[in-house]
Amino acid sequence: MKQHLIDPEVCIRCNTCEETCPIDAITHDSNNYVVDAAICNHCMACVPPCPTGAIDNWLSVLAGSPHTLEEQLNWEVLPPPQEESGAQLEADGSVSAAAAARAAAAGAAAAAGILSEDSGLDGVPSTGAGSSVPPWSAAQPQVNLYTHKNPVTATVVGNYRVTDEDTESDIRHIVLDFGAAPFPVLEGQSIAIFPPGTDSSGRAFHARQYSIASPRDGERPRYNNLSLTVKRVMTDSAGNVVPGVCSNYLCDLKKNDTVQVIGPFGSTFLMPNHPEANLIMICTGTGSAPMRAMTERCRRQLKEKAFNGRLMLFFGARTQRELPYFGPLMNLPADFIDINLALSREPSQPKRYVQDLIRERAVDVARLLDNENTCVFICGLKGMEEGVLHALDAAIGLAGQEWPEVHAKLKAQGRLHVETY
Ligand code: NAP
Repeated sequence: MKQHLIDPEVCIRCNTCEETCPIDAITHDSNNYVVDAAICNHCMACVPPCPTGAIDNWLSVLAGSPHTLEEQLNWEVLPPPQEESGAQLEADGSVSAAAAARAAAAGAAAAAGILSEDSGLDGVPSTGAGSSVPPWSAAQPQVNLYTHKNPVTATVVGNYRVTDEDTESDIRHIVLDFGAAPFPVLEGQSIAIFPPGTDSSGRAFHARQYSIASPRDGERPRYNNLSLTVKRVMTDSAGNVVPGVCSNYLCDLKKNDTVQVIGPFGSTFLMPNHPEANLIMICTGTGSAPMRAMTERCRRQLKEKAFNGRLMLFFGARTQRELPYFGPLMNLPADFIDINLALSREPSQPKRYVQDLIRERAVDVARLLDNENTCVFICGLKGMEEGVLHALDAAIGLAGQEWPEVHAKLKAQGRLHVETY
């Protein structure tokens, strides 16, 4: 039988597969992400969203003895196939095991009604709330140019704080230069960085993923560099003091330090590439990184008279002083970008979340969404996803349309992209 497995050498532990799996067949510990053979039905929902392709492994194993979760959690590399004939097929290239499994899975899924029940208009497998295909006009991304086996070295050329000094939120704008190493990226893509050192079991730390905050032609135009937006993490999700390994490493980097990078990753959360495209960007905190990249791309295109669309931004932060890039953002002309700031802890102001502002601007949001040139990008805290989708639902309802239909259409057309953590 073919067992669905995740390649621990390639996986960047971004949690996308676990979030996407509709039947909770994927789990993880501090070492690995793993697939439970007893639950996985090969529905393939997790395969397209995986930024690295680590998920797309189908190993020949003896029927009745798949690799257990305990085995998988301890792997450093995938084991060899158990079944000679299956291994031979893969080695020959005469039949791709993954392709065969995919075809079988697609057939099984279609037979079980999985695709038709939870797919977009064109039978595109669902990946949760967002599209699993890029906007039709998106440029072709490069992915996985550098992997765990051949990371590239980048040099830090800048590390600036983009929140006020006296606030709790230490958010950094970090610029990395790749020198002569080719590192082509698109807005919306991400990279991953290896923090130095080992965990408590003596294993090298895994790479951590960050969205790129600069446009495709570089933080500085025509330089081979890019930027990241990184928040220094000092507590775990329960509020205990546990400094984040990679965020603290990155926030403390000095000019001329070097870092080990893999990527780029991501082939769906990409901006449309035609001049009439409109963007509705909804983000919280450091989820603003891809929005900054897209906005700056549009601004540069506008200067070249190659952009004619509309930008609408909903940006949530605790206070104005903790909102990354507040100064530069407010310098952008109002006729270029429609900025809506949702501040949740600004003294003397009522608590506002991005979804509150979407409701307030419902008429404009619905009108823009009605235009087939409009794409929506949502990035930031996991918690905001539901509220934002409800607010979009309400806006569409006010315009006399049905959200389930509009939502399915947006997903199928690659016009709704969600990246939340
Ligand atoms: P944060 O400061 O904790 O929160 C930003 C704002 O979101 C605050 O105003 C917060 O309000 C509000 N918020 C909290 N719960 C919300 C909800 N349910 N709906 C709407 N708004 C809500 O943000 P952060 O620490 O920067 O975190 C941003 C997230 O983006 C992280 O999870 C990060 O992993 C993710 N991300 C980062 C990158 C990157 O490249 N750095 C890329 C993609 C995603 P209150 O706290 O006052 O309630």
